[in-house]
Amino acid sequence: MFSEQIRFIPLFFGPLLVFFLFGKVSLSAKALQQNKRTITLSAVGDLIPHIPVKAAARQSINYHDMFSDLQDYLRGDLVFVNLETTIFPQHQPPANSVDWPMFFRESDDLLRALKKTGFNVLNIANNHIMDYGNEGWQQTVAILKKWNNFTVLGIRRHPRHLPGVTLVRNGIKIGLIGYTTNLNLRHRMPVEYPAVHYIQGLPDMEQMARDLSRLRSTHDLLIVSMHWGEEYSPEPDGLNQKLIHLFQETGVDVVLGHHPHVLQPVLSLPPSGKKKGGMLVIQSMGNFLSNQGQGFPNTTAPLRQGAIFQIQFHFLQKSEFPSKKQFELVGVQWQYLPLWTRNRYRSLDKESVVKRGFDRRDIQPVLLLCEIQQIQEQLRSSSALSWQERFYKQKELFFLTQSYQRVQEVLGRENLLPARCRP
Ligand SMILES: [Zn+2]
Repeated sequence: MFSEQIRFIPLFFGPLLVFFLFGKVSLSAKALQQNKRTITLSAVGDLIPHIPVKAAARQSINYHDMFSDLQDYLRGDLVFVNLETTIFPQHQPPANSVDWPMFFRESDDLLRALKKTGFNVLNIANNHIMDYGNEGWQQTVAILKKWNNFTVLGIRRHPRHLPGVTLVRNGIKIGLIGYTTNLNLRHRMPVEYPAVHYIQGLPDMEQMARDLSRLRSTHDLLIVSMHWGEEYSPEPDGLNQKLIHLFQETGVDVVLGHHPHVLQPVLSLPPSGKKKGGMLVIQSMGNFLSNQGQGFPNTTAPLRQGAIFQIQFHFLQKSEFPSKKQFELVGVQWQYLPLWTRNRYRSLDKESVVKRGFDRRDIQPVLLLCEIQQIQEQLRSSSALSWQERFYKQKELFFLTQSYQRVQEVLGRENLLPARCRP
């Protein structure tokens, strides 16, 4: 099977082998060299500004510094995150009350940091986009529009707006679209037109199939962002299976899945129908940043695990002349770097432990391997650690090492990309 074969081929030889496998592409070796193109995509899962995350971002470490260690890996033509929050800075909770902790909103400080880090594609079709009603999602869309560096997936701005977004990178026409199968407070969605791409039944799936077929026929690469599945479940649910079948039928190239908050296995599916290439389904990318699993017992460690997925799409030019679909996708390769959400008190001094304020927490996504190496080094070299600090660090190291193994069990060892940790 084509996609299975190509996964293991070193980057350099991939397109060349594809040329021999599919001899129909009648180009000389020189022309082939000139007519191949690559698109790169980096993607991470759920970003949730829980109250402790927001407190940490204001008092301990700002958002950009939170992401800065990952910046070298969040590179590519497309850099994707599921923004599981509204951007609704103006909202004031009623007097004598605070926001409910499970309603999410942030200011554009977060967007500034995402932009600076390199993110350029944000999905907002998720179950929290209606947390602050009509006003909340409209404000989110308006603010994101102002920050025009972001391609926003998952919403329809007006009734005549066709779902999906087109981007052209390196001459390749890319179609992107985002959907959610979960929507909290769905009764708050405006009735005049479906604002969020929300899939709740067969009619929506039929519309989805029509929209995907239309995007397929006019784009070289088709990417679907999918907020689906059961929260905290390591396996996909029944609806996922139906949707995967629909995506295969309509010719989707890659699915970026999120919402379960834990990692799920990646599927590399064979070609189906007229499409020559297979389909890559990243069923759940896990959490990118949240306060989930902060209690640290073993059962919640998966909520602290995530990954940066790096995908390369290889194309060959089919025609010298611009046409609807000028390029053919001939190979897809993917790799991942395990992530971990660091979530601990900045120091174990008596004052911090007694106060246990959110502002004393250090919360940030880090490369799992580098976190392990850093703690090993601290245990090895620092004789000044108190017995209490040493105890916590050893406990943390135990969970981190277990997590590194578990992430590889879920995502496979052959696609693991080792991190280059800073000294
Ligand atoms: Zn969700």
